[in-house]
Amino acid sequence: MNRTKARLSDGREIVYYDESPGRAPVADPRGLPPVEPVCEVRRDPLTGDHVTITAHRNTRTFLPPADQCPLCPGGPASEIPDPSYDVAVFENRFPSFDVRTPPVPPSIDGVERSRGAGRCEVVCFTDDHSASMSLLPVSRVRTVIDAWADRTAELSAIPGVAQVFAFENRGVEIGVTLHHPHGQIYAYPFVTPRTERMLASAAANPDLFGDLLKAERAGSRVVLSGEHWTAYVPAAARWPVEVHLTPHRHVPDLAALDPGERDELAVLYRDLLRRCDALYDTPLPYVAGWHQAPVGEGRDLLRLHLELFSIRRAADKVKYLAGSESGMAAWINDVPPEDVAARLRAAGG
Ligand SMILES: [Zn+2]
Repeated sequence: MNRTKARLSDGREIVYYDESPGRAPVADPRGLPPVEPVCEVRRDPLTGDHVTITAHRNTRTFLPPADQCPLCPGGPASEIPDPSYDVAVFENRFPSFDVRTPPVPPSIDGVERSRGAGRCEVVCFTDDHSASMSLLPVSRVRTVIDAWADRTAELSAIPGVAQVFAFENRGVEIGVTLHHPHGQIYAYPFVTPRTERMLASAAANPDLFGDLLKAERAGSRVVLSGEHWTAYVPAAARWPVEVHLTPHRHVPDLAALDPGERDELAVLYRDLLRRCDALYDTPLPYVAGWHQAPVGEGRDLLRLHLELFSIRRAADKVKYLAGSESGMAAWINDVPPEDVAARLRAAGG
């Protein structure tokens, strides 16, 4: 993997991850004004959750025509000046968290506030607009994994960053605003609510992840397994389709994976996505997110794992988050996880 760094015309960083050496980055011709993000984190007094207010993001790009895609290489509206790339990562022009955000008072109206001083990046998996992660060669999936690992290490080193989350939203049903195959990375300045809850469970049982994997591997919901990884539908799945992909070794994040684990992940992850796309006549809309240990406190407790889920509950039906889920975070799932596991097993090969 060959890494080349450059700057866009407004000062944002772009990083190319190439499968062969020799890139000489093209200058960005656009002359963009500097980004001036305003990301403010407020603490909900009722729950303690962090809520981020980002008024500057309301003007962001929404489903542009294919000939104006900002992720296709080299066009006049492109975020990627070079005429081709393997994997390209750049700082989001409309970030939810950004170290350039100005200071905010520590408290207003009795509500704790802080700067959303993290970083948001866009990860382009290929320069082919019509591809998808599941259709890429294994070698390219492997390059994406190296890029995720490298970004995780680099973003974790930014002062104030507490947790790094790499994820892909796929499909308009999920709210995707660009069709070009891509994902995002959020480097949060706080530990997210779901991670806080997992850390509390792991604090009560330090071998939580090992015990869980052992039980799932002995049970009926395994979808795929290899020497280093197992994919299973969790017993208490919240979504109509939900799969967790977990390494057998207790590692905190993608950067800690060894070459053998990364090689097998590229094969199994692509296989898993292909099975998901085979469930219905059209590709599955999904969110696939890498849960990584926090940078600081609790780092030893949380094991890296992927959580993939879909809102599709039948060929032409979508699960909307209604009163119980949205209002109370109390999930009701109409689809038995054991059935989903059997369908995903049957969808392979
Ligand atoms: Zn494109």
